[in-house]
Amino acid sequence: MNIQQLIDDIARDVRPYLGQAAPAAYIPALAGEDPQQFAIAVATLDGHCHASGDSDTRFSIQSISKAFMLARVLEVYGDSLWSRVNKEPSGNPFNSLVQLEYEQGIPRNPFINAGALVVSDIALSQLGDCSTALREFLREESGAADIDFDQHIADSEAEHGHRNAALAHFMKSCGNLHNPVDSVLSHYFRACSLRMNVMELARAGLFLANHGRSPVSGEQRLTRSQAKQINAIMLTCGTYDAAGEFAYRVGLPCKSGVGGGILAILPGRMSIAVWSPGLDARGNSLAGLEALDRFTTRSGQSVF
Ligand code: GLN
Repeated sequence: MNIQQLIDDIARDVRPYLGQAAPAAYIPALAGEDPQQFAIAVATLDGHCHASGDSDTRFSIQSISKAFMLARVLEVYGDSLWSRVNKEPSGNPFNSLVQLEYEQGIPRNPFINAGALVVSDIALSQLGDCSTALREFLREESGAADIDFDQHIADSEAEHGHRNAALAHFMKSCGNLHNPVDSVLSHYFRACSLRMNVMELARAGLFLANHGRSPVSGEQRLTRSQAKQINAIMLTCGTYDAAGEFAYRVGLPCKSGVGGGILAILPGRMSIAVWSPGLDARGNSLAGLEALDRFTTRSGQSVF
């Protein structure tokens, strides 16, 4: 397969979708992103990285950080995590409040916001300054030592983050957050604000494609079984109430973020990152989904 040719073709073919959708508006600092931007990168386990489009431009990884934070928490805390968050698809929007009360403050999965707040709470207890720990992890795993937070985006989200605050306070009232709500929220917002480009993101995801061992840092980050578990949760929950659509069209474990990025994993082969800021109604990148669909359809590669 000629990966470079394939992704150059895809970057050209998704152009009609750029500008058809708008960036996230509920975080004002993201709303001004130019929706004409698009990038795709493919990092393979044999050390190659191919890219097309605006691949040098860094963007806010938002909820893609949830996959990496979950990896850190599984590594240090293990299966005890699953007494505080479930691993079932929610079928609801990522910031939904309704299910949480019915289910006594135990979030459906670690990738909806409520679940990610619990994971951040555990990370705070286990790692201390967990957003900085995540930044260091991503610097090592991408090989880019200057990856950093975007404090302007973190502040903008904190100022408008009433839904996340509501989720956190409700879970605190159920005893499912152990640290102060404000600290959990501020580490969560900082982790979401990290800026990376598609090449850095694809490289950072390689440990998930390589059964837990990073070919970039050489570290065994997770056991083979834990890497499988995260990929399974990405497939079933990583794109929220569009996870069925993604499994059907893309056929890969994916984690999206409202910055317009999506990380996709082809276990045993490669990691793919796409980015375009315009979001569909379920908060996933419109052109990103189109690009991943074309990638797996044209290459014949998927987990199925
Ligand atoms: N920081 C965003 C939020 O909490 C992340 C959501 C997302 O990327 N889906 O709303």
